[in-house]
Amino acid sequence: MDSTIRQISRSAYVVIGPEGATNFAIIKASDSSAALIDADIRRIDEVDEALRLTGCAKVSYLIDTHEHFDHTSANFYFAQRGIPIIASAGCAQAMKDEGAADFARMLQPVPELYERFPGLGLTLPDVVFNETTEVKLPGVMLHLQYCAENGHSHSKGDTTIYFEEEEVFIAGDLLYTEVHPVTFFGNIPNWLTALKPLYETHYRHLVPGHGPTVDGAESGKVYFKKMHDYLEDFYGQLKEINSGRKSEAEVAEHMQSGAYAALGKNRMVQRNINHFLTGRWF
Ligand SMILES: [Zn+2]
Repeated sequence: MDSTIRQISRSAYVVIGPEGATNFAIIKASDSSAALIDADIRRIDEVDEALRLTGCAKVSYLIDTHEHFDHTSANFYFAQRGIPIIASAGCAQAMKDEGAADFARMLQPVPELYERFPGLGLTLPDVVFNETTEVKLPGVMLHLQYCAENGHSHSKGDTTIYFEEEEVFIAGDLLYTEVHPVTFFGNIPNWLTALKPLYETHYRHLVPGHGPTVDGAESGKVYFKKMHDYLEDFYGQLKEINSGRKSEAEVAEHMQSGAYAALGKNRMVQRNINHFLTGRWF
C-alpha cells in the first residue's frame, strides 16, 4: 500500500503512512520554502516525492518530534544537504545515549541503504531547545513545545508543533489515531499526564504521529481521550498480569476487543505486552 498526501489546510500537507506507518508533515511557506516535520530514511523517496508534488522549492528546516528511528533516521540525508535540524534537548540527549544501537538494529533488514547513502548513520539535531522555541518562515510561525512529562512520556523527546496561521497542531507520537500505539519505549503514567493539557489545546486540524489526521478540536479531543483511556486501561492490564490475576493471552484478547477491535497494527499488542513483561516497566 502506498502512502497518501493529504492537504489539511492551505499550506500544510501530511504524508499519511500506509497502515499506520509514520506520518510526515510539510509546512509550505509563501516563498515555497518548507519546514519538514519528521522523515524516515527508509521512506525518503516518498518524502522527496511529497516535497516535489506540493511544489516546495527547498527545505529550510527539518524538525524532529522525538528521537525514534522512524522519525529521525533521515536526519543524515538532510544534514548532508546543509539543512538545519531542530529538536528538543531531550530528543538530542536520548539519541546520544541510545540512538546508535537503535539505528544499527533498525537498518539491519535494509543494508542496501548503506550503499545508497555512503556514511549513513545516526545524525543528531544541530539546533536544540529546552522547553519552547519558534521557527519562522515567510508567512509561517511554528511554535515548538517540549511535552515529555518529567523527561519521558511516549519518548524522551516528545515535542508538539503548532502552526499558528492555519491552526494546525502536530502531536507527534503522543497521539495515535485508529491504530494501536507503540508504548514500550514510553513511560505510561507520565504519558497519561502529558495528554491531559492537550485536551484543551486549540487547533482546527490535528496531526497524529501515526494514523489519519483529524479535523476540528472537538473531534481531536475525542481522539486524545481515546488515547488516554487506551493507555490507562493497558497499564492496568499489565498490573493484572504482574499480579497473576490475568494471563498474557487474556490481556492480548482484551486489548483487541470492544473499543479496540477496529484498531489497525494489531501486531503491536503482543509486542507492547512482551516488552513490558521482559523488563521495560515504567
Ligand atoms: Zn515514537
